[in-house]
Amino acid sequence: MQIDVLTLFPAMFDGVFGSSILGKARDKGIVSFKTVNFREYANNKHNTVDDYPFGGGGGMVLKPEPIFAAVEDLTSAGQVRPRVILMCPQGETFTQRKAEELAGEQHLMFVCGHYEGYDERIREHLITDELSIGDYVLTGGELPAMVVIDSVVRLLPGVLGNEQSAVTDSFSTGLLEYPHYTRPAQFREWSIPDVLVSGHHENIAKWRREQSLLRTLRRRPDLLENADLTPKEREWLDRMRRQESAEDPG
Ligand code: SAM
Repeated sequence: MQIDVLTLFPAMFDGVFGSSILGKARDKGIVSFKTVNFREYANNKHNTVDDYPFGGGGGMVLKPEPIFAAVEDLTSAGQVRPRVILMCPQGETFTQRKAEELAGEQHLMFVCGHYEGYDERIREHLITDELSIGDYVLTGGELPAMVVIDSVVRLLPGVLGNEQSAVTDSFSTGLLEYPHYTRPAQFREWSIPDVLVSGHHENIAKWRREQSLLRTLRRRPDLLENADLTPKEREWLDRMRRQESAEDPG
């Protein structure tokens, strides 16, 4: 996968792209990263990339020319058309589903904003996706782009070892993941659930599935609507829901 990032602060990506799982993915040749300062594409003598908003008001607006020029320059003729992703608090909220969808692409291009906003023609005529990482506003699109890139790259085949497999991660299954325990089996006055040391794989799998369902019911019941559950599991959850509301009617 080729990942290009258009940013006014390319140095912010050095540590992230060179470390941990992303660094290893790059070293293995699974992904290649390119950061491009779109100021280099400014077509004026002061290399200006922003300007005052038409109609007045505070804040500066990113001009269309440098961003169009950078995207067009990085899109080689004859290649698969890249997904051009605008980082923006007004965009679609990023989810694991979206990460899975983007992991199927060959070429992603991220546009990181700064200042008040973008000239609307960038949104209307250049980009393919607008992504937000949540309902809050950051100074720039760099941190949000890093969040999206990290979650996409870890899904590429060969990036995670077996021991870090993404298959059982929260959201991948449509549910939150079950609780984990490691040695010591007894820590202070807290011991681990007996089933985990029973050696009975079927019972362990059953316990994990139930814990995953229960945790999702308690923390993110909204996820259950679209989760892939058997009728028996739905019945079990209904029983748990009734039991829990009887125990805590408030
Ligand atoms: N005035 C804009 C608005 O109200 O929608 C916010 C601009 S913000 C200060 C500057 C840049 O940070 C945005 O263009 C975007 O690239 C990035 N950004 C801020 N919050 C973000 C979020 N939640 N998700 C994705 N990008 C974000």
